[in-house]
Amino acid sequence: MSSLRSELLQLMAATPTVDCHAHTRSESEYYDQGPYDLFTLGSYFDREIGALSGQFPGRYYDREAPDEERWQHLKAIVDRCFNESYWRHNLVTYRDLFGFEGAELDDSNWQALNDSIRHRTADRSWYRDVTVNRANVRTQVKNIPWFEDWDPAYFTPILRMEPALEIYRPGPRRQLEERVNRGIHSLRDLREALTALVEEFAGRGAVGIKLAHAYRRTLESRPVAEVTAAMLLDRALRGEALPWAEARQLEDYVIFFLAGLCTDRDLIFDIHTGVQGNGCWIPDSNPLLLLNLIQAFPRTRFNLYHGGYPWSREIGMMAKHCSNVWLNMAWMYVIGMEVSRQSLSEWLDLAPGYRILGFGSDVGFPEFVYGHLVMARSCVADVLATKVERDFLSEAGARRLAVMLMHDNAAEFYRLEA
Ligand SMILES: [Zn+2]
Repeated sequence: MSSLRSELLQLMAATPTVDCHAHTRSESEYYDQGPYDLFTLGSYFDREIGALSGQFPGRYYDREAPDEERWQHLKAIVDRCFNESYWRHNLVTYRDLFGFEGAELDDSNWQALNDSIRHRTADRSWYRDVTVNRANVRTQVKNIPWFEDWDPAYFTPILRMEPALEIYRPGPRRQLEERVNRGIHSLRDLREALTALVEEFAGRGAVGIKLAHAYRRTLESRPVAEVTAAMLLDRALRGEALPWAEARQLEDYVIFFLAGLCTDRDLIFDIHTGVQGNGCWIPDSNPLLLLNLIQAFPRTRFNLYHGGYPWSREIGMMAKHCSNVWLNMAWMYVIGMEVSRQSLSEWLDLAPGYRILGFGSDVGFPEFVYGHLVMARSCVADVLATKVERDFLSEAGARRLAVMLMHDNAAEFYRLEA
């Protein structure tokens, strides 16, 4: 290992990290549902279990079955997918946090690992120890679904807003009406209700809003005239089920309204782009489809997730051309270490460094936040050391970028207090 690479790794381990996109369960939820074991402490590899077996782990493993039987089930999937980053994420986590010493998980060592997970996750100081001492995470910018809460000791909230797009459905509409304690009888009422909701969360510390609408529709949205949106909402309020072409127009109207609200209230607009779950229609998530929205709101700060992968090169160009676009590496290192290195390396040639957010865990357990962070630091060190060696980046520049990617950019972007 080059001495610069190891120096960068040490520097990042000593730098408190801002996790720029999290779903980590709260400490109380963690202990309410724990302790865990090899079969219940999972992350993205669970998606491969789902894809190969047709059942997610909760069903794939018979709860009543002995551990030996559950291991045989897990082994059948690992044998076919052990090459993936999703699995290596597990191994990294097992090694560093649970004393796992094997090269691979096999018949000879799964039991000791299973015991170790059970033992450590029962310890009431473990959650905090993993998050604060081992991962050295300063705060996690957490995805907050309507209308959940968060623990400010660990989390900085971002409010999920997809239900607002489906306001033509009675369910989300009633939820919103109840939450802000006002009826929605017109487009104006809708705007006021959405404003009240966002202001309430912003008042309690939310730094922005998030849409992950690409999971069910295209990211492309167009401006819709007020009179058209008012007419469509009116029909929905009278109980009519809008055909998709019209429902989509109302959704587009809300998307543009939210982008404007972000400008007015100085909030960040987070948007999921790229890689999604099995079965989704990947082309819907192409970040280039967002360009007209991004250009229509030059003073709204757009935080685009997941490196836009597989459109990482395109998203790099977007950040180069649009000064209101931030590139967020959430989820990326466990999707693929090599694509992460390639993306970061290209972006560092292309885009202003302050607009790259180097880490977002995007997982449910603190242990996997830690494992993801180990993979992230490794990739960032590879990229920066190589750029010094080959691409005329100075060593001082590499050191500075390491701290920017892991902490400083996010602290500035989310306006975290010093
Ligand atoms: Zn996420």
